[in-house]
Amino acid sequence: MDVSVFVETTFDDGGTRRHNIVRLRRAPGEFGSENLGLLLDDAKTLLKRLQEAIVHDQVGEAVEARRKCNDCGKRRAIHDDRGRILDTLYGRIRVKSPRVRCCSCQSAGIARPGPQSLFAGLLLDRATPELRCLQTELGSRHSFREAARLFEMFLPCSAQLNTTVRNRLGRIADDLSSEEEGQGGTDTNAASSPLTVFLDGAHIRCRPEYQKRHLDVVVGKVESRNTSRRFGLVQKAAASPARQLRNDLFAQGWDGQSSVTVISDGEPA
Ligand SMILES: [Zn+2]
Repeated sequence: MDVSVFVETTFDDGGTRRHNIVRLRRAPGEFGSENLGLLLDDAKTLLKRLQEAIVHDQVGEAVEARRKCNDCGKRRAIHDDRGRILDTLYGRIRVKSPRVRCCSCQSAGIARPGPQSLFAGLLLDRATPELRCLQTELGSRHSFREAARLFEMFLPCSAQLNTTVRNRLGRIADDLSSEEEGQGGTDTNAASSPLTVFLDGAHIRCRPEYQKRHLDVVVGKVESRNTSRRFGLVQKAAASPARQLRNDLFAQGWDGQSSVTVISDGEPA
């Protein structure tokens, strides 16, 4: 049998558009549990195409609504449209992001403003809030690499980089800190540059012919607003791993009192 999935959008002005989403083939001779119903790859393709169709129509309708002049109701002319990449849970989509010209009804005597973006202040960080939220959730529970792998395993999202997960988590942590400070949080040294410590641990097995000890290695980075300092140590070899980290923090301008954000992959080492 063939299964075809279509979507029909009905716009607020009554117009409709139909999208062919996906077509699945299930031959009777190949019936078995391994191809029964919807498979993960089918579901990812279906979700990706469904998302493209919905986002395309939703953005198109929003563009038309925002093009209307508030004074005379005419459609303003498009100046340019470079488009914008938007990452969603269900795929990376190129969306329209046009700039429109000032309407001709505006008085010629007044200096006309330049082209105006229809989506100014929207579509921030090139990712939907839902995607950023889930990246933060998984990135805080797993290593950044594992979070990226889980994303790609279950979702038709764009290729995930561990650094993207890390950076998004870092930005959300910054936003939360800023909110706390704005509400009179307890940071006693808001004036000093905030420090973030990234820690990553690894267990390295020894090569029997070479040495007898396994190594627990910790590598990391101390970042301030303008500088970045990397460090690495073997816990058993360092006389005091905590003191070494503390010295690295002092070298980055830490005053010994202000709070430090630590982002770790959860590795016990
Ligand atoms: Zn007008």
